[in-house]
Amino acid sequence: MKIAILPGDGIGPEIVEQAVKVLKALDLQLEMETAPVGGAAYEASGHPLPDATLNLSRAADAILFGAVGDWKYDQLERALRPEQAILGLRKALGLFANFRPAICYEQLTHASSLKPELVAGLDILIIRELTGDIYFGQPRGRRSAPDGAFAGAEEAFDTMRYARPEIERIAHVAFQAARQRSKRVTSVDKANVLETFQFWKDVVAEVHKDYPDVELSHMYVDNAAMQLVKAPKAFDVIVTGNMFGDILSDEASMLTGSIGMLPSASLNAQRQGLYEPSHGSAPDIAGKGVANPLATILSAAMMLRFSLNQPEAADRIEAAVKQVLAQGLRTPDIHSEGTTRVGTAQMGDAVVNALR
Ligand code: NAD
Repeated sequence: MKIAILPGDGIGPEIVEQAVKVLKALDLQLEMETAPVGGAAYEASGHPLPDATLNLSRAADAILFGAVGDWKYDQLERALRPEQAILGLRKALGLFANFRPAICYEQLTHASSLKPELVAGLDILIIRELTGDIYFGQPRGRRSAPDGAFAGAEEAFDTMRYARPEIERIAHVAFQAARQRSKRVTSVDKANVLETFQFWKDVVAEVHKDYPDVELSHMYVDNAAMQLVKAPKAFDVIVTGNMFGDILSDEASMLTGSIGMLPSASLNAQRQGLYEPSHGSAPDIAGKGVANPLATILSAAMMLRFSLNQPEAADRIEAAVKQVLAQGLRTPDIHSEGTTRVGTAQMGDAVVNALR
């Protein structure tokens, strides 16, 4: 089992170091190799995703990614900015399925902006299609409006499109994921207004015929945004397109209180995956030893479950995280009165101890 370790920028190296420590404590046969990515790679070799890093990632079963980016790179031309490394990896490896779980740990219910009873025990999974939709559809650009009430005026436009195989494969991923959980899928669309999403809804319903044991419901995206803050526990698996998934997964992440707790995975058809915390490189706290490493450690657990076929090891890590929270250990982002404040490395060590 070969893992490419890409720490990246800002807090990336600090949090990835903790996840590597945890992986090493599992006594599995894991081969890990580290390579620069993002701003760190740009500094070293003039490109955010050098060939050597891309080749290492291609050859690996899974990639453990920290985070990339820093405001100091904002002046660079777009193709050289750190964030392009993630887009490049998604494209090169065909990572079309983005898994964003939103889990609210019992000890952290008070950190949510919702009432504790609404989020206690929350465990939902948002599956976002990652390589299609209006984010990638062509044509796009600026032009002089060819028609309409403002014909001749300068306008900008994008194209929303989804091909049948793109919808089919993400629907299969969602139904299969639901089979490992409570067997309920909500497909989120805007079929009442958009042709693309009427098609989405129809294709998801067709794929559903292969999964009679899974319950399927459809919901418009505006209603889904409301339900996520009204009764989030009513969901199990949500599957949706790239743009709606982008927005809803960030909304769902806030239900859990801290961005420092949320892992994510992006998988391709071979179940090769890129695993990373949902947050960014947090330049404001980089190097201070205070970043929460749990999202990255939980991403490593997802990696063991989805790409390396080691579900027991994944369960062990998740149980260890629950144990350190139960012990009252908290990094500053989740700290509250009556709990013990710890730094990044201490939190990593505590998870390793809990594993043992
Ligand atoms: P961010 O997620 O980095 O930070 C937002 C806030 O959350 C900050 O106050 C930060 O200190 C805090 N935070 C984030 N992770 C934390 C953790 N593990 N522990 C404790 N606190 C944490 O988002 P941002 O500030 O908007 O972006 C910073 C940089 O990260 C930008 O360059 C952005 O482009 C990049 N970014 C990268 C990714 C990625 O690598 N996948 C994702 C989002 C943003």
